[in-house]
Amino acid sequence: MMRYSQMRKMDISNGAGLGVSLFVSGCDLHCPGCFNQVTWDFKNGSEWTLETEDQFMRLADRDFISRISILGGEPLADHNVAEVRMLLTHLKEHFGDRKKIWLYTGRKFEDIISKANESSQDRLRYDCLTLADILVDGPYIHDLRDLNLKYRGSANQRVISLNNSLQSGDIKLLYTSSTN
Ligand code: SF4
Repeated sequence: MMRYSQMRKMDISNGAGLGVSLFVSGCDLHCPGCFNQVTWDFKNGSEWTLETEDQFMRLADRDFISRISILGGEPLADHNVAEVRMLLTHLKEHFGDRKKIWLYTGRKFEDIISKANESSQDRLRYDCLTLADILVDGPYIHDLRDLNLKYRGSANQRVISLNNSLQSGDIKLLYTSSTN
């Protein structure tokens, strides 16, 4: 059962525009220097239930909310990925293209694509990419930390437009400099 540490009702960080954000609990990657170590524990926070999903959907349904962000922890960890995929499916069914879905992962886009058929968990990770709009990918690397970067902590991390990248096979990056 997935757990979450925080649900933000109004969030101006973690994505473009005014959004709602969900921080799921647990991370299997343990990047050295991670500023969010409190979220590594899969037992942290509260249970993610149908009721909490309903609450999150209602928060996202408000007209002034244009973006929904799923962060962690690691949303695509084995322990979380099935429930994150389910949530993304429900969000897409309910909102279509009305809200942009931002997904954060410490994994790399290319690795998720290349491993898509290796296991059922890998397939679920790939499915998540097809359901979200924007992926912020890669581990946090402390030596590459840059406070001027938008929506990410270190220079190796990327903001990827998923529709374009999955269709063309070329990774389409967004917010490549701190000025846009
Ligand atoms: S993936 Fe995110 S939460 Fe996990 S260790 Fe890396 S920076 Fe921390």
